[in-house]
Amino acid sequence: MNFNPQISNLPIYEAGKPIELVIREFGINPKDIIKLASNENPLGCSPLALEAMEKSIKSANLYPDDSYYELKESLANLYMVNSKNIVIGSGSDQVIEFIMHAKLDPNKAILSAGVTFAMYGIYAQHIGAKIYKTTSPNHDLNELKALYNQHKNEIKVIFLCLPNNPLGECLDASEVYEFISGVDSDTLVVIDGAYMEFAKFKDNKKAINPKDIVLLSNAIYLGTFSKAYGLGGMRVGYGIANELIINGVSKLRAPFNITTPSLAAAIAAIKDQNFIDQTLQNNLKEMSIYEKFAQDNHIEFIPSYTNFITFVFDNNKNSTKICDNLLRKGIILRNLQSYGLNAIRITIGTKEQNIKVLEALKKEI
Ligand SMILES: *Cc1c(COP(=O)(O)O)cnc(C)c1O
Repeated sequence: MNFNPQISNLPIYEAGKPIELVIREFGINPKDIIKLASNENPLGCSPLALEAMEKSIKSANLYPDDSYYELKESLANLYMVNSKNIVIGSGSDQVIEFIMHAKLDPNKAILSAGVTFAMYGIYAQHIGAKIYKTTSPNHDLNELKALYNQHKNEIKVIFLCLPNNPLGECLDASEVYEFISGVDSDTLVVIDGAYMEFAKFKDNKKAINPKDIVLLSNAIYLGTFSKAYGLGGMRVGYGIANELIINGVSKLRAPFNITTPSLAAAIAAIKDQNFIDQTLQNNLKEMSIYEKFAQDNHIEFIPSYTNFITFVFDNNKNSTKICDNLLRKGIILRNLQSYGLNAIRITIGTKEQNIKVLEALKKEI
């Protein structure tokens, strides 16, 4: 059996180590496992969302309302945009996939920072499109501009991950708007705001407002319920842009692309901004404990605007070895060797989890 050439050298994506695997391989009691590898919310999700999901299960025999009327209205209110400016995806991942299919072919290209969310490159490869990346790992706007101007005819999608996963850095909103103004109207700038709630909370200069994005002819904002809202398992994300972009992207969406409980959870979660506030406060407070640990132990870290922190090790340490040793103790972190970095990304956990992680890490360094 032959497959399309563009996917033949594409590896199967390994999305962090699942808890089940650690239980099987190392025989660790499930309740002792600390998983801080996928930037999930350590506080769970809003109790309102849990209740709504439970209720919704009773109508499992019915397809969900495919217009997603109530969810779009809730998001429209939250962001002060119109429902017509919103597309819903099974995670914002799926919206990225829609965008790729709507804008790319094998003669076109995407542009991104050197080290950023892996799915941009993977979806581009599905199509056989070319991938331009800056040599700088983080978002260097001068380099992005230069690469864009050099390959203007090919580049149809530019990704700005704000703040950036897996590094944690974030451009200022004013720099972003200035950058977009230099991009042609037929090239779509994707602002991936998966962690924007965290960035905004820490520093308002980072806040990109979807209501400003809908005024632009060549930009789309992506948000998700997987991170601050704590609903990664429910798979709900969204894109916000002007109506023309939303109409184009929505042609790729199959009906009923999110489930009835997912829909109920997302609608209820928006109502509980109190939970988001608690999440953001826990995150910032606990983040400072990791920063202090890094400083005290002379570990380089990247100041983070997200719910994770990236520790970068010098040549005397090996991130793979550290991650493997911690895994044996039931602590799952994200090794960044696959990004070419001798670094570990740690999702900020609860106070209790963080104490255990830092204790274990201390023995490795
Ligand atoms: C987690 C994440 C997403 C999307 O996650 P979904 O669960 O598919 O909504 C998108 N971009 C980045 C940078 C992420 O880290």
